[in-house]
Amino acid sequence: MIVKVINKYKRRIKRITNVYCAIMRSNKKCLYCKEKVEGRLDKLFCNPSCKSAYHYQKSLEKEANMYNRIDAQLKTNRRLLKNFNKAGKATVRKEKLLEAGFDPKYFTHYWKNKKGEVYLFCYEYGFIQRTENDRRKYVLVEWQEYMD
Ligand SMILES: [Zn+2]
Repeated sequence: MIVKVINKYKRRIKRITNVYCAIMRSNKKCLYCKEKVEGRLDKLFCNPSCKSAYHYQKSLEKEANMYNRIDAQLKTNRRLLKNFNKAGKATVRKEKLLEAGFDPKYFTHYWKNKKGEVYLFCYEYGFIQRTENDRRKYVLVEWQEYMD
């Protein structure tokens, strides 16, 4: 009796599963061209060329994202160095610049003075870190012709 009931439900579940899979399959669209995908339920693309086109497009997007992110950070850094350096030379607490969104990892070029100290630049505005009385500061400078 119980076996009969269990088998009845097993058949019912199988039928429901088949219907569900058929619906899923019929709604399945290629990730690249959005055409209907035939075949296995876990298939994502209608053919190999759609698959490679999709991954190529993704890699281009990733490249553009990185370019835009770095570009934006360089512009932010330049704006902050400019704003904190109205007089052509200034000293600012490092934390103050970082809090404002400055990221010292991003710079466009560097200049080394005769003492071998390296100034990092974001376009025409540069900075170098100094530590005075355990306080980290940035000395801000402006690009000069003799640095070329
Ligand atoms: Zn496709």
